Amino acid sequence: CGIVGYIGDKEAAPILLSGLKKLEYRGYDSAGIAVQEEEGIKLVKKQGKLNKLNTAAENEIFNGVTGIGHTRWATHGKPSDRNSHPHTDSVDEIVVVHNGIIENFSALKEALLAEGKEFTSETDTEVAAHLIAKYYDGDLRAAVNKAITQLEGSFAMAVMSKAEKDRIIAVRKDSPLIVGLGKNENFLASDIPAYLDYTDDFYILENEEMADIRQDKVEIYSFSGSLIADKNSTKINWS
Ligand code: GLU
Repeated sequence: CGIVGYIGDKEAAPILLSGLKKLEYRGYDSAGIAVQEEEGIKLVKKQGKLNKLNTAAENEIFNGVTGIGHTRWATHGKPSDRNSHPHTDSVDEIVVVHNGIIENFSALKEALLAEGKEFTSETDTEVAAHLIAKYYDGDLRAAVNKAITQLEGSFAMAVMSKAEKDRIIAVRKDSPLIVGLGKNENFLASDIPAYLDYTDDFYILENEEMADIRQDKVEIYSFSGSLIADKNSTKINWS
């Protein structure tokens, strides 16, 4: 029920965990984070309250400046460690967090199973990870763009690829998502309060918009693939 992301010059894990804490009010049954490391993507996810995830995360040494996180409100597959997000494809190239429901997931899953893909969860979300991996050939935005044309339903998603460490792709369809703009760092969240302590400047994604987020720049595209060059950010005024 909540999505966060960070890409910048600081350790990502604590910033992801603090963002998830701020999104707790949205409700959830499980939580998880994934961080880009030298060797690959490190992932910790737990059914239950955030303190369970925090404890599990303390036992890991996270070493990376790019990551995504999630609080889950289960719709497909019971609450469990395995069904918690993030989800990956079979070879851990692609990692995905998702809010919402992929309505046509069972038809997609059948087709992917027939192609020999192995699933490790009961979620609708895992279908997206396999689909994006299938289309991935070095450009994450292109792969996500291709995959979402096959997804029906509502989704906000954040996606990373092991091969492109300085990149998060986020998409919004009928589920809110915002991008916080910083200096040498950018943030992603379901809602502005997650990162108001870090920035007051946000892109509020509209339906069928996609954000291509890097440490030093953010580009917004439409689902049709065209750059939205005149996207205005919103300044949140404290006073
Ligand atoms: N449909 C997904 C699941 O059940 C995402 C639920 C959510 O929005 O947290 O895992």
